Amino acid sequence: MELTWLGTAGFIVKSKEGEIAFDPFLSRGQGEASPFTPKSFENTQAIFVGHGHFDHTFDIPEIANNTEAKIYAPGLTGQLLKMRGVSGNRVHHAGNKETLFKDFKMRAFKSSHVNFDMPLILSTIKRCGVRGCMHICGLGVSYPQGMVQSYYFEAGGKKILFLSSATNDIGELKQYRDLEVDYYLAPLQGHTNIQDLAAKHVSIIKPKVVIPHHHDNFYPPLSQDISAEVFKEKLTRSGFKGDFLEIPLFKNIQL
Ligand SMILES: [Zn+2]
Repeated sequence: MELTWLGTAGFIVKSKEGEIAFDPFLSRGQGEASPFTPKSFENTQAIFVGHGHFDHTFDIPEIANNTEAKIYAPGLTGQLLKMRGVSGNRVHHAGNKETLFKDFKMRAFKSSHVNFDMPLILSTIKRCGVRGCMHICGLGVSYPQGMVQSYYFEAGGKKILFLSSATNDIGELKQYRDLEVDYYLAPLQGHTNIQDLAAKHVSIIKPKVVIPHHHDNFYPPLSQDISAEVFKEKLTRSGFKGDFLEIPLFKNIQL
């Protein structure tokens, strides 16, 4: 199986089961330009969306124009994608009850979004200035979070869990432990102490391998680089015995 990190929470998964993608975000503003284009998804069969924020959905209408991929998104986010031009028969509600995409045994779980903490909000306001803050408020209004879904799937005989944002629900995390996850795609963004929070989550989920994402500077000055190295240290200190795999930005690994 090949796993490509698109930056932010975006991934393309290629395996003998087929090709799928998660939360592709290519328009990185003043961030390092993405080498990926909507054409990079021409063989993608399905795109799964974690939640509605702009850094998870902004590029999906244009990508949809370049692929036959089905788009699985939770409730309101799917409705907004239709309003932004994705044809209705391509958009599917990512419900929790049924298998969404059989070849990958894809299931959605009710998840939640990390709570932005006050020090993070204040430091972001300071970085962005008045004009930047107004721009961000506009993005917030146009791209509401909506329901948050996580995704569990199987590919190449491995069990994989994707979260689009670090949850704040311990009960949800305990549910993932029962799945006996091989690879946990762990989001590192949205909180001053995100590495501590994410390490705590790993200690509950107990995956064999942790792969961080969303820690790149995907849309400066709103975003900033988050150290995956610090996360790795926190994992070691918390007693995590599994492997830590950091995919370089825009690169892929074979699993
Ligand atoms: Zn978000």
